[in-house]
Amino acid sequence: MDQNIKNLNKELNQNPASRQGTDIKKDEKYMREAIRQAKKAYALEEAPIGCVIVYRDKIIGRGYNRRTVDKNTLAHAELTAIRKACRKMEDWRLEECTMYVTLEPCQMCSGAIVQARIPRVVVGCMNPKAGCAGSILNLLDMKEFNHQADLTIGVLGEECSEMMKQFFRELRERQKAKKKS
Ligand SMILES: [Zn+2]
Repeated sequence: MDQNIKNLNKELNQNPASRQGTDIKKDEKYMREAIRQAKKAYALEEAPIGCVIVYRDKIIGRGYNRRTVDKNTLAHAELTAIRKACRKMEDWRLEECTMYVTLEPCQMCSGAIVQARIPRVVVGCMNPKAGCAGSILNLLDMKEFNHQADLTIGVLGEECSEMMKQFFRELRERQKAKKKS
């Protein structure tokens, strides 16, 4: 990961108030909703990733990771939320919307965010191994594309990252138990 991003992440996690120009209370409120979605994935023994899309203070799309239960590469939280939001807006453009997602989006979802022209993305915790909103690369901020999204990271970051850690801990335990039996 880029050292600058690492430092930024650290700073944001330690001091969320260092985020400027954003309504922290509102961000946390909607991140809680994204976490609620993530818990639905967790209940299905899926990696707990959740997402909501907000338009004028209203949630217009929700989604959670269902990749394994649906046996579908495309069943990421963000894509499901985008699909639902587009249906609601009757538009493929999601201008004026904000996406809240518990984990940094992958290359596919970051691509979809740019395609949907979502102007702002709020991320819980970063994903150094697969994230494409700053970790491996930042697809949300490429001047070569016709759209860039503003990014806020580290909103309820501890909670989001602890949820992932717990999931992988339990997954390893389940796999160990399976091997034994
Ligand atoms: Zn994704």
